[in-house]
Amino acid sequence: MHDHRKLGRELDLFDTDPLIGAGLPYWLPDGATVRHTLEEYIRAAERRAGYQHVYSPVLGKRELYEISGHWAHYNDDMYPPMDVGGEQVVLRPSLCPGHAVIYRSRSHSYRELPLRIAELGAMYRSELSGVLGGLTRVRAIQLNDAHIFCTLDQVADEVADALALIGSAYRAMGITAARYRLSLPGATGKYVAAPDMWSRASKLLREVLDGAGLSYQAVEGEAAFYGPKIDVQVADHAGRESTLSTVQVDFYQPERFDLHYIGPDGGKHRPVMVHRSIIGSVERAVAHLIEHHGGAFPAWLAPSQIAVLPISAAERAAADDLRDRCIDAGLRARVIGPESGSLSARVRETRLTPYQFILGPAETSNDEVSVRLRDGRRLPTQPTTTAIAHIRTLTAHHNTHLWTD
Ligand SMILES: [Zn+2]
Repeated sequence: MHDHRKLGRELDLFDTDPLIGAGLPYWLPDGATVRHTLEEYIRAAERRAGYQHVYSPVLGKRELYEISGHWAHYNDDMYPPMDVGGEQVVLRPSLCPGHAVIYRSRSHSYRELPLRIAELGAMYRSELSGVLGGLTRVRAIQLNDAHIFCTLDQVADEVADALALIGSAYRAMGITAARYRLSLPGATGKYVAAPDMWSRASKLLREVLDGAGLSYQAVEGEAAFYGPKIDVQVADHAGRESTLSTVQVDFYQPERFDLHYIGPDGGKHRPVMVHRSIIGSVERAVAHLIEHHGGAFPAWLAPSQIAVLPISAAERAAADDLRDRCIDAGLRARVIGPESGSLSARVRETRLTPYQFILGPAETSNDEVSVRLRDGRRLPTQPTTTAIAHIRTLTAHHNTHLWTD
């Protein structure tokens, strides 16, 4: 395992500057490509799973967070309010209240449930500067969030489906969970007081974990203030665990925001809110990917997927043309020409790039390419179109194998 802070700088993925501030990393072009690709993967997976995407504002009135309970239970992590025209507005510490208001803005029939609202949105946490570092403790967070509004009968299936989405995302990213944790409330006062609500929600989560055959540890004192949750834990380079993905059952915020749907009986009923995040924050997910893969991302996520290496200046024009064909096919490719050094030096320099296309005079005249894989395997010379099409198929399916026959 590697330290993502060190590798992130060495690979030009992200950095920080004291002038911008601690805990506020910026993304360099290669890091931005990884982030964008990951975000698009999540959006596509959510669309397939029946989620609808929304945008909600990063600022909101203090009153919104008083109603949600954040102001009373989560204030230590929030930025102080700003006075604007006699009103107090705050940077949001979560996306939940905005989504509850979006749900409430239209009337809903039981036929629309489960209603799944998703957003990849920024939220803000007033972390102390002493604990900041790299992408794991940041003050501005891009959260992969969603809220499912459903009936009590639908909760178990929705939680199970969310766990399945998390499982397939981990397979695509080539990572594994260190363990599953059932996070329950502790003895301190940060949790809303509603014993019946806590026990019902905890029972539901246990049933889903048992039904999925997942082993887990129940830990007190790790719940959200409004409800228990399943946390999917991953380990960093030093073996420290952190939560990447979560699924939470919430009876509290639907009460606070007075949410309802119209049932088959024509009457008003209270929905349950399931909060879930597949990859947690984009920052934490990318930090974990950097550490786990040592910068050798799965091909679909790699900042540069193909390094085109002309043997000499004579193949330069053909190499540029080949790069353009790769880009037209939806792949990310760069030419590293002989001006950058010997072929073996360029092979070393691009060792984290999944595919190296080596172009000599024979390949150029036959429209063929010699493919070298990141793991050192050399494939027989093959038609360029075949190689591009094969890589395109592998990356489109988020396959973590570099090559399959
Ligand atoms: Zn939420």
